[in-house]
Amino acid sequence: MENVVLVVDDEEVNCMLLTKILESDYQIETANDGEEALKMLQASPKKYAAIILDLIMPGMDGFTFLEHYANDEKLQNIPVIVSTGDGHQDNETHSLELGAWDFIRKPYNKKIIHFRLRNAIERSQMQIMRKLQYVEEYDSLTGLYRRDHFLKATREMFDQYPDGQYVMIRLDIAKFNLVNSFYGIERGDHFLREVSDKIRKFMAGKEHVTYGRMRADVFAICMTYTKESELMSLSSKFRDEIREIIPEFDMIPVFGFYLINDLKMEVNDMYDNAKLATKICKGNYMQNYAFYQDEMSRDIIKEQKIVNMTRPALEQEKFILYLQPKYDIQQDKYAGAEVLVRWKDTDSGIISPGEFIPIFERNGFIIKLDYYVWEHTCQMIRGWLDKGYHPNPVSVNVSRVSVYNPKLVDVICELVENYDIPPELLQLELTESAYTSNPYMIRETMKHLQEKGFTILMDDFGSGYSSLNVLKDIAVDVLKIDMKFMSDTDIPGRGENILASVVNMAKALEMPVIAEGVEKESQVEFLKNIGCEYVQGFYYAKPMPSDEYEKLVFYAG
Ligand code: C2E
Ligand code: MG
Ligand code: MG
Repeated sequence: MENVVLVVDDEEVNCMLLTKILESDYQIETANDGEEALKMLQASPKKYAAIILDLIMPGMDGFTFLEHYANDEKLQNIPVIVSTGDGHQDNETHSLELGAWDFIRKPYNKKIIHFRLRNAIERSQMQIMRKLQYVEEYDSLTGLYRRDHFLKATREMFDQYPDGQYVMIRLDIAKFNLVNSFYGIERGDHFLREVSDKIRKFMAGKEHVTYGRMRADVFAICMTYTKESELMSLSSKFRDEIREIIPEFDMIPVFGFYLINDLKMEVNDMYDNAKLATKICKGNYMQNYAFYQDEMSRDIIKEQKIVNMTRPALEQEKFILYLQPKYDIQQDKYAGAEVLVRWKDTDSGIISPGEFIPIFERNGFIIKLDYYVWEHTCQMIRGWLDKGYHPNPVSVNVSRVSVYNPKLVDVICELVENYDIPPELLQLELTESAYTSNPYMIRETMKHLQEKGFTILMDDFGSGYSSLNVLKDIAVDVLKIDMKFMSDTDIPGRGENILASVVNMAKALEMPVIAEGVEKESQVEFLKNIGCEYVQGFYYAKPMPSDEYEKLVFYAG
């Protein structure tokens, strides 16, 4: 039976009487005094549905028991009904003050006892349920609504006040995880409580508003607004206040705003849109807010799709190496190739690197992809050598992210050693923009690679803002210039003049030049005239699978 009632009374006859009255509905256990009762309760607090307590007992009396009871949180859900002799009003008042729930008088009245006991048990169960509900609805750290309850309360607000103009706000704290790791969890918790207090303070005057903590350092607010400028000023005022919490550390609250125009939309989707908006702020906190725009979701959904497809694609070797030949226009012969990756997806067909490389650079996956491409390139070269061909060098792209890998030199050296390939056959293309962001480190890395026998090509030369400075400081072996940079001007002849000067300058520095993106015969003629040696472009060949490349360069020659 579930309902165990503990009768605490030193007089056996009282215990027997109460047992007789209650045994039809309850299981009765007895204790002789307060001390024994406390022991039983503490041993299994969940077992008891109620306590009937005598006040006057030898040993620990009822009042002392109640004092202990009031200080023990585990016991407070168990209702205590005090049994008193008739007419002892002072005792009754005093025991109620000490936390008793109700009292019964001797001589016992069966009906009254049943009634009061059932009442007390029901009340205590309600109390437990309310507590549970509170835990479910409110975040214990900050006292704000938890996610589900926030969503529910927001929906209720819309139903009640459907005429308001609402905004859904997502607020997260950039760099919050650093607070935890630099100052410890306690300081982190304190910080979050402060943020919650600020939210309460800012929202205090608002009539229609809900807010909650969605997770860790992420909060949501839904409220009415009149002008967008009001929201921008909210985000800047909030930023100022957040700064004060940990002044030595620049904590930035990042706001995503979704201006709601259809209240029938799922509240969760509104929140997701506010979240999409904050993605634009990532990394650029000059402005710590952003408004959701429609095309955002399309871009981000597409990006998310690619991210989800990535890992399986790598495992299933869906990334394929294409080769685009380079042509020596002065000597009229093929002069190696650049490896360009292609993603062959079963559903979407071929996905071009322009679509996924920028995404991989953002999420760091490019490091894995780069390695994959280098390794497959080594395998391919090994295959050619084993077949007795005398291949020209092949260049691979090294993304800006891989350049920052302090182990880059070891990784590449290990690869060519494993496949037993002379380093001259594997050339490395580094994009110019990588040089500008961390010149010292790149200079060192390149020096080491060159010492090991690798050739370094500077890709996309001329695309950066300080190309000449880069050339001055870094000794690359080959320059690659994309023809499209030359056509980015309206002034006739200007692109050609610059190109001619660059080729001249490169000659003075004894650096060969490869012109990329060459599509027309006229371009080839021009390049020949100004003394450019190499051309890579659709005019000679598009990027192709490796077996086609083999046929083109090995069987012909
Ligand atoms: P990139 O390294 O500058 O490669 C040259 C790009 O120009 C290639 O685009 C190539 O197909 C294209 N191209 C070559 N000739 C012509 C032409 O005559 N006309 C036009 N319009 N385009 C031409 P792709 O293969 O789409 O690659 C784009 C970029 O993606 C590459 O630029 C490179 O930065 C990156 N990428 C490609 N494969 C890899 C790779 O395996 N690893 C890394 N890290 N990046 C790669
Ligand atoms: Mg390249
Ligand atoms: Mg290029």
